[in-house]
Amino acid sequence: MSHHTDTLSDRQLVKLAEKYGTPLYVYHAEKIMAQQTRLQQAFSKTRVRFFYAAKALTNINILKLMQQAGCGLDTVSIQEVQLGLKAGFAPQDIIFTPNSVALDEILAAKDLGVRINIDNISILEQFGNRFGRSYPISIRLNPHIMAGGNYKTSTGHVDSKFGISIHQLRHVERIIKSTHLHVNGLHLHTGSEIKDVDVFIRGVEIMFEMVQHFEELDFIDLGSGFKVSYRPGDMATDVELLGKKLTTAFNDFCKKYKRPLEMWFEPGKFLVSEAGYFLVRANVIKTTTATVFVGVNSGFNHLIRPMFYDAFHLIRNISNPKGVERIYTVVGNICETDTFGWDRKLNEVREGDYLVFHNAGAYGFEMSSNFNSRLKPAEVLIKDGKSYLIRERDTLDDLLRKQVEVL
Ligand SMILES: *Cc1c(COP(=O)(O)O)cnc(C)c1O
Repeated sequence: MSHHTDTLSDRQLVKLAEKYGTPLYVYHAEKIMAQQTRLQQAFSKTRVRFFYAAKALTNINILKLMQQAGCGLDTVSIQEVQLGLKAGFAPQDIIFTPNSVALDEILAAKDLGVRINIDNISILEQFGNRFGRSYPISIRLNPHIMAGGNYKTSTGHVDSKFGISIHQLRHVERIIKSTHLHVNGLHLHTGSEIKDVDVFIRGVEIMFEMVQHFEELDFIDLGSGFKVSYRPGDMATDVELLGKKLTTAFNDFCKKYKRPLEMWFEPGKFLVSEAGYFLVRANVIKTTTATVFVGVNSGFNHLIRPMFYDAFHLIRNISNPKGVERIYTVVGNICETDTFGWDRKLNEVREGDYLVFHNAGAYGFEMSSNFNSRLKPAEVLIKDGKSYLIRERDTLDDLLRKQVEVL
C-alpha cells in the first residue's frame, strides 16, 4: 500500500494490470469516501444533503458504496432510478431529474415513489392536471448563468435545453395555482466545472429570489459543478471556501423563510473522478516525420472525454518510471482520429509498457461503447487494500448477444 491512503501507487497499478489485463478501469473506494467526507465537512454547519449523480459512474458496487456513505442518488433516466433502487437506495433518497423524456417515464418514476424534478412547462402542467397536490415535485430552473468548462457541459445558459427559465416564473405560478401542485423544492444545475466560487454564489442568490415565490419548499438543490483538478496546477473548486460562503448565505436566508430549508447538492465528478485510473498497454511506438506516436490498446470507445470535450487526462508511464522523458502523442486504436493526448512528456515508452490515465472515474467507463466491435474494459474496485473484479471484460458473445441472425 502507498503511504497516501487515498492514492494508488504505480506498483499497485502495474500489479492490477498484470492480474486483470488491460484495458482496465480501477476505482479506489477510500478516495471516493475521502471526497464525500470532504464535502460533508465543508458544509457541516448547515442543513445539507448530497445526492451522488449516478451518471458519472453507475457500477452497482459504486452505487452501494455511495448509499453506505449516506448519500442520496441523483438520476437522469428511469434505468438509473431502477439501478438505484436495486443498489438499496430508498425511493425518497432518489431524485429523478430527466430532460426531454415523455410523460410515461415520469409516471413510471412516480410509481416507484422517487422524487421527481420537472424541467419543462408542458410536463409540469400535465403532471399537475393529473395529480394536483397528491404527489410533491420539485422544479428545475434555468438561471441563465454561463458557466462550466465547456459549452457542451454548460447547462445554464440562455440557449440551453435544460430547466424552466426563471423568466417563466409567472407561467409556473399560474400552473401551480390552477392545478394545486405541491412544489417542495427548487433545483438548478448550471453545468460542470465551476472554478469560480462567486459564480456559484450568484446562482444561489438568483435561487433565493425565486424561493420567495414558493410557499412550501423543503429544499433548494444547487446541482453540481464541483470541479476537480485534471492537470498539475489546475484550478479546482475550493469546496471549503464554497462551503463557508454558502453556509453563511444560506443560513442568513433561512432566517427569512418561514419553513426550515435544506440545501442539496448533486456531485458526480467530484466524488469519483480522481478515484479512477484507466490502465492501457502501449501496443506500438510509431515515429513519423513529425511525431512519435504511442498507440495503445484502447481508444475513444473506452475513454471519450479527450475527443469529445477536449478534456485533458494526465497520462503516465508506470512501467518505466525512471526512464528518460520524451515527447509523445498518445493515440488509440480506433479507425478515426483518436488522440488521448498531444505532445505529452512521458518516461520513455517501450512497446508493452503500461500507461495510466488519471481522473478516469467520472464519465469514463460510463460513456464507453463497442465502436469498432471492440470489447468494453473490465472494472476493478480497490477497497480495504483488496481488489475486486466488479465487471468482467466483454467477450465476443457480448457483441452478438442482442443480435438476431435472420440470414
Ligand atoms: C450531470 C449532472 C450532475 C453531476 O455533474 P458533475 O459535474 O459530474 O458533478 C448533477 N446534477 C445533474 C442534474 C446532472 O445532470
